[in-house]
This record gives sequence, structure tokens and C-alpha cells, in this order.
Amino acid sequence: VEQSYIMIKPDGVQRGLVGEIISRFEKKGFKLTGLKLFQCPQELAEEHYKDLQSKPFFPKLIQYITSGPVVCMAWEGVGVVASARKLIGATNPLQAEPGTIRGDLAVQTGRNVIHGSDSPENGKREIDLWFKEGELC
Ligand code: ATP
Ligand code: MG
Repeated sequence: VEQSYIMIKPDGVQRGLVGEIISRFEKKGFKLTGLKLFQCPQELAEEHYKDLQSKPFFPKLIQYITSGPVVCMAWEGVGVVASARKLIGATNPLQAEPGTIRGDLAVQTGRNVIHGSDSPENGKREIDLWFKEGELC
């Protein structure tokens, strides 16, 4: 089954958006198979975002993701990766459609509340990276 790694970033946790965000995925109908609150170490943040290593904003991105606890989630279902990206909305919240999570709940690219895997391959890679085997149902 297709899986997506979804993560509520530190600003989303700090602003009290955890329930609202989980609710949107539950209502859509995907299956939650992993869930934890977690303080991300620097090395894990760097590994997760390794494709963006050469970007000028990379150090700030790592600082952001490690600035407080995140909520790590594994969701599964047919088409979950693309569907989650639609629920999440564009990377820049000012360009994200109303009705999407970023469109409704954020204004800055550097504080855009949530991560979603960009391919089924990365969904699997990221779930393996963030969860231990016994943590998934
Ligand atoms: P994510 O991977 O977190 O779901 P995304 O796939 O929409 O987001 P990516 O291009 O993978 O976007 O960028 C990863 C994250 O890096 C973005 O969500 C954002 O937090 C940050 N980011 C991307 N571009 C910029 C930028 N130009 N300035 C600052 N931060 C950025
Ligand atoms: Mg991405």
C-alpha cells in the first residue's frame, strides 16, 4: 500500500494546530499507521532534507525543523502521496489555495506548518528514516 510521511513542523505544534491538521487527514479517509511527538536531532533533519543541501536556505531550514518538537505521522492508502500534497497546498502559503492546510493556516514559506512526501518512494524512505519498526501499526 502507498504510504506518505506527514510531519507537523515546530510552528504547527507550537501554535496548537495538531488536532486540526490530523482531523483533516482522518476526515479524508486515509489510515494512520504511525504517530509520535518528537524532538528532531540536527543529523536527522539534514538527512531528511538532504536533496536541499545546496540551497541557500538550508541552514535556516534545519534550524527551523529542530527548533521544537514535531509530530511525525505515517499515513497509508491508495494515492495518499498526491492527495496529501493537495490537502497541504503550495510550498509558499501565500500561493496555497484557500481550503488547503497552508492556504488556511500559514503565511510564510519558512514557517509553512507541515511536510508531506513528494513521491511514494520518498514516502517509504522517510517513514523508514523517522520511525522504528515497532512504532508502526
Ligand atoms: P516539504 O518538503 O517540507 O513538504 P515542499 O515539498 O512543499 O515542503 P520543498 O521544496 O521540499 O517544499 O522545501 C522543503 C521546505 O524548505 C519547505 O517546506 C520550506 O519550509 C523550506 N523552503 C523551501 N523553499 C524555501 C525558500 N525559498 N526559503 C525558505 N524556506 C524554503
Ligand atoms: Mg518537499
